Amino acid sequence: MAKKSHPIALVTGATSGIGRATALRLGHMGYNVIITGRRSERLVALSQEIEKETKSHTLPLVFDVRSFEEVQKHLGTLPSEWTDIEVLVNNAGLAAGMEPLQDGLVDDWERMIDTNIKGLLYVTKVVSPRMIARGRGHIFNIGSIAGREVYPSGNVYCATKHAVDALSKGMRIDMHKYGIKVTQIAPGAVETEFSLVRFHDDTARAEKVYEGYTPLTGDDIASCIEAALRLPDNVCLADMLVLPKAQG
Ligand code: NDP
Repeated sequence: MAKKSHPIALVTGATSGIGRATALRLGHMGYNVIITGRRSERLVALSQEIEKETKSHTLPLVFDVRSFEEVQKHLGTLPSEWTDIEVLVNNAGLAAGMEPLQDGLVDDWERMIDTNIKGLLYVTKVVSPRMIARGRGHIFNIGSIAGREVYPSGNVYCATKHAVDALSKGMRIDMHKYGIKVTQIAPGAVETEFSLVRFHDDTARAEKVYEGYTPLTGDDIASCIEAALRLPDNVCLADMLVLPKAQG
């Protein structure tokens, strides 16, 4: 059971990479954390790790953000001590395929659009009304440098992250008057399982991505989220582009 005195955070895509590091960090910051993803064994392991390392409690929830029914079922009926979510981190996302547009697979396009855009919308639609009713909350959307530029074979992934950029601005405009901050974090290259997913488990291709420079880590992005959360209440860090030093 969650202790009432701890604020509550929700991180989507907490089974790996940026989401995992962020959930751990929020636990260390004193948040009780709702951790979500599709791989239940990883959520259970993370839950045990957070509860062992920190004084925080966790609520692991297994669902696919691409299904509005699943999102509603899990996040629309939270146990009462978990409903007052203060921090939402819309992180679940992926790149899939990354071929020139004419060679792309429709399945890959749908996975990216359904996860990166619709998943973020579904979770926000279910979680934000209670933030609005309480008059407080902080929503983080994990965008990407791919939301600022378009690179070869990035076509649909870049389009989804441009959408995250637009939605972050739209959410801020619509919600700031209810006391809700919206922060987009737009990372450059972060070493996670992202590249493996992106290249359909082709390890050799995935490893090549980070050749010649030191990428960011999930922990670096968690530090950016922590920094935004530690700002005074009247300060909203709207948008943060975070790059490895060697990425131009
Ligand atoms: P990872 O592949 O390591 O993590 C992705 C997370 O998203 C996993 O926890 C995965 O959980 C979850 N996820 C994916 N699809 C779904 C789904 N349909 N339903 C629920 N959860 C899902 O990658 P990163 O940590 O790098 O990626 C996190 C975010 O950061 C993404 O939005 C990505 O676009 C963005 N980003 C990443 C960059 C990078 O270089 N790594 C750069 C810029 C942005 P599970 O599989 O268990 O469901």
